[in-house]
Amino acid sequence: MTTRRLALCAALLYGLAGQAPAQAADYPIRPEPVAAGSWAVIADTGYFTPDNGGFLVNSAFIATADGVVVIGSGPSRAFGEQYRRVIEATANKPVRELIITHKHPDHFLGNQAFRDVPIRADDKTTAMLKSEADGLAENLYRLVGDRMQGTEPLLPNAPLAPGVREIGGHQLEFIAVPGHTQSDVAVFDHSTGVLYAIDQVFNGRTPTLPNASLADWFAALDRLEALPFKVLVPGHGPVARNAGPIRATRRYLQWLDATLKDAARRGLTPNETMALPIPAEFAGWAEARAEWRRSVGFLYSRYELAELPPLAGTERATD
Ligand SMILES: [Zn+2]
Repeated sequence: MTTRRLALCAALLYGLAGQAPAQAADYPIRPEPVAAGSWAVIADTGYFTPDNGGFLVNSAFIATADGVVVIGSGPSRAFGEQYRRVIEATANKPVRELIITHKHPDHFLGNQAFRDVPIRADDKTTAMLKSEADGLAENLYRLVGDRMQGTEPLLPNAPLAPGVREIGGHQLEFIAVPGHTQSDVAVFDHSTGVLYAIDQVFNGRTPTLPNASLADWFAALDRLEALPFKVLVPGHGPVARNAGPIRATRRYLQWLDATLKDAARRGLTPNETMALPIPAEFAGWAEARAEWRRSVGFLYSRYELAELPPLAGTERATD
């Protein structure tokens, strides 16, 4: 079903209930200064609901001498439009470009509000969005409902190359750190010491793994931890001023990997695995049980396959 048809369905449902769609409430967008001319917008840490309108993801913006660089456009057209007004009022400068760090829908569905500036993503993310963006948007329509009205995926239209780019007095390094998805970009501002790690790092919110490669993710965390940052903006959860959230994300992924391996070795069913205890360190994180269950759903079959004995008379394929 297309997003237009989903929007129509949502409108019909509201009509049948005898209610006009409510005027969408403003999103609680409150920029938090993280360094000179640099702000993060910290979101709710729950799951997608009509109440939060999909505002679960952190974003950020940097006011350079040549305009504002925005990192992430949020979950919907309404969010993007409100966000852009907030950015330009806060920075007192026009937006010059938007950076899309990876393919997850809550990070790019506000793109329509930035259609007049370059919308940058790396080649791999842009290619994946060409085939996946409609489906990702439909999923958010189902979860979030009428605050998605008018939202259509708008694809990135400009390249994002890894390396350092000088923009209006800021030395911005774009770092390829896949792992959370097949292609992720972190932004390190050498001029201010702010690391915009986005979804490579979760802080007090359980990581999401629908497209994760754990080996890559561990390498990404090592690379990010080695940077001389002073401020860390995670993809979900509050801003930090040390590497604690990087280490906690690593420990969670290590526990998840070891637990899935052990469950597969013991022959547990997916349901039994979903019911396993979560260590105290992670049990208090937002969405701890729900994300663990989702991660078992996404990943467990790979671990079960790895435990299967080779068939008699065949050799195990090497990879
Ligand atoms: Zn993500």
